[in-house]
Amino acid sequence: MSNFHPDQTKLAEYVAGTLSYHETLLISVHLHYCKECQQAVQRLEALGGVLLDDLPGEPVGEDLLQATLASIQNDEPVHRARREEVGRYYRHPEVPAPLQKLVPRGFDALPWRKLLPHLQVCDIELSPQGPKISLHRIRPGGRIPRHTHRGSEYTVVLKGGFSDALGDYNPGDYLHRDADHEHEPVAAESEECICLTVTEDPLKMTSWKWRWMNPFLS
Ligand SMILES: [Zn+2]
Repeated sequence: MSNFHPDQTKLAEYVAGTLSYHETLLISVHLHYCKECQQAVQRLEALGGVLLDDLPGEPVGEDLLQATLASIQNDEPVHRARREEVGRYYRHPEVPAPLQKLVPRGFDALPWRKLLPHLQVCDIELSPQGPKISLHRIRPGGRIPRHTHRGSEYTVVLKGGFSDALGDYNPGDYLHRDADHEHEPVAAESEECICLTVTEDPLKMTSWKWRWMNPFLS
């Protein structure tokens, strides 16, 4: 069960479809784990439906109706079976559904690179304009040196857990950190911890021992 959730405004923006790609991905992954927010989203969708019902309706054109009916009729069982087969082929049980396109073969198959003794990172999507979408993997009991963030960092825990001075985080937990937060995360002893992170700017090491790494994190 998740204890750290996106706020209601974020969920309303998710339902309205006004969030950016990376924010939509983070919320979708959180929803995969969180029944409470799934129910909140259903309530917001129902509310949106009531509001839309109050608006003057647009009649659906005959062409659009016929095209939709034709596409449903053409979806023969053989086509459906093939699609399901492809879905099964790519589906990996430890990867939440919204991430499966980015991580089709499971976490172990990713090209991880070692960033620190206990920490591996894999950038799963890089766009020159947008923030960086990465996975971080911490060994059981691994401690990440004290650091802060130059911009916002959003995290959703996917596997295992970690703690810092502000709390203990488990699968599904959604966190937002920025330059005001300095923390030193420690992974749970029981298993490795894998997190989805979206960073607007790279980390900035504040622990003296690791400050030499800052130029390499940019
Ligand atoms: Zn939630």
